[in-house]
Amino acid sequence: MKNKVFQDLIKEVHELGICQQCGGCVSFCNSIENEVIGFKDLNSPPEYINKEKCLECSICYFICPQTHVLDEDLNETFNFSDFSLMPLGFVDNIYSCQSMDKEFLKYGTDGGVVNTIINYLIEKKIINGAIVAKTKSPFSREATIAKTKQDLINASGTKLDISPQLDTVQKFHTYISSLPKLRHYKFNKLAFVGTPCQIYTIRCMQSLGIIPSENIEVCLGLFCYENFFFDRTKLTQFEKQFKIKFKNIQRINIKENLIIELKNHKAPQKKIHVPFESLTDYMRPACGVCKDFTNIYADISFGGLGSEDKFTTVITRTKKGKDIVDRAIKTGIIKCLRMDNTVKNKMKEKITQYSQSKITRTEQNMINKLKSWKTTSAILTNDET
Ligand SMILES: Cc1cc2nc3c(=O)[nH]c(=O)nc-3n(C[C@H](O)[C@H](O)[C@H](O)COP(=O)(O)OP(=O)(O)OC[C@H]3O[C@@H](n4cnc5c(N)ncnc54)[C@H](O)[C@@H]3O)c2cc1C
Ligand code: SF4
Ligand code: SF4
Ligand code: SF4
Repeated sequence: MKNKVFQDLIKEVHELGICQQCGGCVSFCNSIENEVIGFKDLNSPPEYINKEKCLECSICYFICPQTHVLDEDLNETFNFSDFSLMPLGFVDNIYSCQSMDKEFLKYGTDGGVVNTIINYLIEKKIINGAIVAKTKSPFSREATIAKTKQDLINASGTKLDISPQLDTVQKFHTYISSLPKLRHYKFNKLAFVGTPCQIYTIRCMQSLGIIPSENIEVCLGLFCYENFFFDRTKLTQFEKQFKIKFKNIQRINIKENLIIELKNHKAPQKKIHVPFESLTDYMRPACGVCKDFTNIYADISFGGLGSEDKFTTVITRTKKGKDIVDRAIKTGIIKCLRMDNTVKNKMKEKITQYSQSKITRTEQNMINKLKSWKTTSAILTNDET
């Protein structure tokens, strides 16, 4: 049988409208110096740039989060079987934690725990830095490498000024393509902070031993129900629908819904909670066919859901993840709420609800996509005959 290559990704992933634009295939194309594939436009799936130079090695096909070729291998490594049986993946332990560092707590999305842990790993020289994301505007971030505490605070989000020139910016994403950053840091030991689709791609690369994935010392996964994309039309629609101006948004957070914090407002008007069901028009299409909410292949997963304000829900999954969290608690850089099994189970139940709703959404969307794909293919085949 012929090896599956990038052409097959175009057919099976791009044409089905499920490319997550994670950048994994582009970053780890086996013929990177020949620029075989690349993004011509960051809002569309990658394309062939020099098709004739393709080595037909199949790496892009293997590591794409939408082909699921390596699922069996990964599931074995991460003690996972199936979403219907384990909607949260393998859970070693679950905590609700807060940073003991005033700055990380102040600027953190929730409890500032992710950045506190990264800072600790840098100080202890376990890693040289981390690939994180810094805010450009409320709905837009960019990948960056953080090597110091100040870099981490700068990437925390709320401290940075929000661009007053929003009108001149055409497009906004809450998703950022961090994987291509890895290419520039081949000889470092890094932590990678990312969404489930990004962590999946990294795990596939690690499972195949692709450089520089072995330099990723620890995968810190964020919960992710969905990500958003706005162009000018969507932006106007959003402002009208929710009766707010983008320029008045101070910060956003995603928890059990989208939380928009407004400038120059006092409670209770300061925060608007928008349910995910009202945001379908703004969701990136690929997110509609993604089952993983809690980042099942990460060493440690982090989210706001399940914890009170200014606390982060933390799930340890691997031995490495467990050791890191144990040390963070022992050294006193984070504090965790005391929770008995009843409270922990309640927390898990709430997160399971969201995971299950994401799984159901995916199953429904896949049925619809396959139906319309088959219809289009049939029309095209009939036209050709
Ligand atoms: C796109 C996105 C969707 C999310 N969806 C949910 C959700 O549905 N439900 C939920 O409970 N939690 C969700 N989260 C997680 C939540 O918002 C917090 O990031 C998490 O609880 C950690 O909070 P913290 O205060 O401990 O992290 P902090 O200490 O503030 O650190 C957060 C780290 O994440 C990095 N980061 C921020 N944005 C991105 C990004 N887009 N890609 C990669 N890295 C990034 C920052 O640079 C920083 O290093 C989502 C996060 C993101 C980025
Ligand atoms: S060289 Fe390999 S990784 Fe690159 S496009 Fe071709 S098949 Fe994919
Ligand atoms: S989902 Fe990622 S790896 Fe798959 S085709 Fe799209 S950009 Fe490439
Ligand atoms: S919902 Fe899935 S595809 Fe979308 S950004 Fe999150 S992990 Fe990636």
